[in-house]
Formats: sequence, structure tokens, C-alpha cells
Amino acid sequence: MNGTKLLMIAITFMGLGLSSCSKEEGDQSELIGLSDEEKQDLMFLREEEKLARDVYLHSFDEYGVNIFKNIANSEQSHMDEMLSVITYFGLVDPAHSERGVFNDPELQELYNQLVTQSDISLVEAYKVGATIEDLDINDLNNCESRTSVSTILDAYEFLECGSRNHLRQYYGKLQEQGVSYAPQYISVDYFNSIVNSDKESCGS
Ligand code: ZN
Ligand code: ZN
Repeated sequence: MNGTKLLMIAITFMGLGLSSCSKEEGDQSELIGLSDEEKQDLMFLREEEKLARDVYLHSFDEYGVNIFKNIANSEQSHMDEMLSVITYFGLVDPAHSERGVFNDPELQELYNQLVTQSDISLVEAYKVGATIEDLDINDLNNCESRTSVSTILDAYEFLECGSRNHLRQYYGKLQEQGVSYAPQYISVDYFNSIVNSDKESCGS
């Protein structure tokens, strides 16, 4: 056996040693026993944030109004947050790199429907914005009730804080146009408490 072979064997053993070591370090209480529901929620929300981003990018291309670009940037930070949680728990990112393409068939159908509505007029695009944030807040509330893992809850709270700000902004744009919006997912009380309160600062 020559020196090179011995060196390769030594490196292989070192590699094995390192991987089993890092696996043990990863076995913290949070990493054990995420339910299938918790995993599905993480995957779904990652793609739902992508839906928001992709619809707003579509509306920005169509109307050139900055609110869509600014909120799309915020949705990118929400996508990044979900990706970091998905990676932390060793799950595989479900999000497609291409704009407007989704693995979840329901989100694909919703995306197609919402961009079609957004194409009608700027006011409809604002209504679509309010609808997405309304839906997003409601889904986040449902997901929050299905977990007690603090890493996940922190991420959900960060996203929900952003969604409340986005809802305030789209609602403000609709009001400027003399158009109202009635919540379709969250309660009227919660909706009113959001749109009648000030913009929040959302820390990661
Ligand atoms: Zn978001
Ligand atoms: Zn949003």
C-alpha cells in the first residue's frame, strides 16, 4: 500500500468522524420529533411567501408602482427566513427558482388566478395585495396553533408582523382610490385592529 492510499484512507476516516460528530451536535431537543404537520406547514409557508413575492413582481412589471417592488423585497426576506428554518431542520427546500412556478398545485392555481385579477387594473392589483396578506396572516395563525417550537414560532411572528404592515399599505392605497376592502380570511375585528394601528418594526 503506497503513501497516497494510506492518506486517502486516513482522510476518509476523519470525514466519517466529523460527520458523526456534527450529527450528535445537531441532536438538540428541537431537532427531534417535528411532526409531519409542522414540516408540511414550513414547506407550505415557504412557497406561500414566494407566491406573494412573485405576484407583486408581476404587478410591478405591469404598473411600475413602487409599493409592489418594496413589498416584493420584504417577501424575499420572508422567503429567506423560511428557508433558514427549513435548512435548520434538515428539510429540502420545495421552492422552484423560476418565477410563477410552484410545487404545490393549490398555490400554482392561486397564483394563476391572482395574476389574472391583477392584470385587470391597478385597483384590482391592490385588492390582490390585500387578499394575499389577509390569507397569509390567517395561514400563519393556523400554523402557529400547530407548533410550540420556538425557532418556528419566532419565524412565524416575523412573517406575520411583516404581513400586517403590508396589509396596512395595500389598504391605504385602496382608500386613496376610494375603494374599501372586506377581510375574506381573518376576522373583521382583527382586520380593523390592524388597519387602525401604526406600522410596526419587525425584527428577525
Ligand atoms: Zn410575507
Ligand atoms: Zn406580505
